[in-house]
Amino acid sequence: MTPGTVYLVGAGPGDPRLLTLRGAEVLQRADVVVFDRLAPRALLDLAPHRAELVDAGKEPGRAALKQEEINELIVRRARAGKTVVRLKGGDPFLFGRGGEEALACAHAGVPFEVVPGVTSALAAPAYAGVPLTHRGVASSVAVATASTAAGGGVDLGKLGGAADTLVILMAAGKLDGVCRSVIEGGRSPDEPAAVVQWATTSRQRAVISTLAGLPQLAAAAGIGPPATLVIGKVVSLASDLSWASPGSDDGELDEGLGPLIEGTL
Ligand code: SAH
Repeated sequence: MTPGTVYLVGAGPGDPRLLTLRGAEVLQRADVVVFDRLAPRALLDLAPHRAELVDAGKEPGRAALKQEEINELIVRRARAGKTVVRLKGGDPFLFGRGGEEALACAHAGVPFEVVPGVTSALAAPAYAGVPLTHRGVASSVAVATASTAAGGGVDLGKLGGAADTLVILMAAGKLDGVCRSVIEGGRSPDEPAAVVQWATTSRQRAVISTLAGLPQLAAAAGIGPPATLVIGKVVSLASDLSWASPGSDDGELDEGLGPLIEGTL
């Protein structure tokens, strides 16, 4: 039997409308959708009623599928001739383990396509009014994770010297250590920093402070995962550009985006 295709689809950061047209197109003809915890649930409505929906994320009382199990599942379904959509939060090739799934397909001789998505690394700063580059302020950006799947550390101190603006994912639970490492790496404790939780959704909240002050302010505000940390002079532009804070009206979201909690810069 000719195998079906596996589509590794970026679901975007949270607002379902940030899916690409190509993502919507392939979802509409999926036989199987394997979705992650951070992929917006509303997108499952785009799949045909007959489609098999597989929750690969954690659910109360049920363990998440292991990466190997996901790889096996998508390959098995494709080999049975099914069109498989692997729906992943943000972009599938940025800290999404999409590369591993693509390799599993490649090794199994299963055709696959990558449908890029709007990553939270770009969308979270944008929705907090932070342009990652700005003429005369920042001309380079580095994106990193605060933790690796293998549990290994990331040298955030070294990263600090690598780019004007730093975007760090998976940092919500360890802001203290992350900000300290970045300061130890040579960035000024007075540098502006922001953390944005549930970006692009009605639950979005952002806290802005200095690198030294952010961990305490974020903890006081109860900021937890999923959140994106952005560090650099560009963060100070948010005081003029935070378009998604209360009072801005995009006329489409059910509820306004949540509060922007600002500390002293
Ligand atoms: N592939 C995804 C990232 C997966 S890692 C992407 O491209 O966006 C998961 C991390 O992404 C979270 O720990 C958090 O740091 C970030 N993240 C995902 N959704 C987010 C959101 N709505 N707001 C802020 N950060 C988010």
